[in-house]
Amino acid sequence: MSYTIDMHCDSLMAAEFREGPTADVFDCPDQALDIKRLIEGKAMAQFFAIFVPPEEAFSHMKYPVGAAQYIEECAQVFENTVSRHSDVVAKACNAQDVERNWKDGKLSAILTMEDGVEVHGDMAKLDHFYDLGVRALTLTWNFENCFGAPNSKDPLIMNKGLTEFGKEAVKHMQEIGMLVDVSHVSDGVFWDVCKIAKVPFIASHSNARSVAYHTRNMTDDMIKELHKHGGCMGINFLPAFLNDTPGFTESRIEDMVEMALHEKEIAGVDVIAIGTDFDGMGGDLEIPGPQKMNLLYDALIRTGFSVEEVDKIAYGNVLRVMKEAMR
Ligand SMILES: [Zn+2]
Repeated sequence: MSYTIDMHCDSLMAAEFREGPTADVFDCPDQALDIKRLIEGKAMAQFFAIFVPPEEAFSHMKYPVGAAQYIEECAQVFENTVSRHSDVVAKACNAQDVERNWKDGKLSAILTMEDGVEVHGDMAKLDHFYDLGVRALTLTWNFENCFGAPNSKDPLIMNKGLTEFGKEAVKHMQEIGMLVDVSHVSDGVFWDVCKIAKVPFIASHSNARSVAYHTRNMTDDMIKELHKHGGCMGINFLPAFLNDTPGFTESRIEDMVEMALHEKEIAGVDVIAIGTDFDGMGGDLEIPGPQKMNLLYDALIRTGFSVEEVDKIAYGNVLRVMKEAMR
């Protein structure tokens, strides 16, 4: 069974919403992800996203705060979690940290942010988030922000690219070693990032649009281009991104395998990675948490992927990108 580096989960948000800044991600019984399950599933590293929800969501928190405070508190929840489980978990800011932690018998926790909205066009704020420990940023969520446009059914929005600030910020992120994450962005933003990128970037949790039609997924041309840039994309387990049958709410392993087969066929195995979206999706999940990742790897082997290829998908490709793009 292979180790796993999962590029996306929303478990931090869920913990912060339930318990506030003193929360421990691994001490929330209703969540998909906890330390026991991560260890059981041989997790090598888990990305923990600070997902910045739309303003109206904050009123549903146990201790409601604004977006700026929420981000600080999520970072606090991340730190609490790492320090309370320091016998088995350690923070990582780059590939070398992940490898060192692994040698020490610990899995790595990597802090990321989903939606650059709170950067508000201010590079100093971006640097502040870096100082807070954020090492990957999903440029947009599903609304336009200071970086650019999100994915959309409206072609006018879908073709919109990076803002002037977005272009500068992408350059800056790559210079300081913060991964540029193009999941959720418009096709226009994706192509603009390709023009600017000097080191590999990621689509942390995105699938192939030609297999499951959804604007959140990527076209074959985009996947090929991502591969040319040395990047990788995480297979997202969310039902609608795996299977576009109307009303279908199952997240099935056979659809994940089909996604991997397609991505391999058009761009090669080096572009494929894992980005589960645990604790950020509903539906009927065949892989309900990290403890069952072996079901996917076994299915890939049965379909004809070699052990080396599965290792690349499970953790190797992300580690490669981290080595090239982070400091
Ligand atoms: Zn997302």
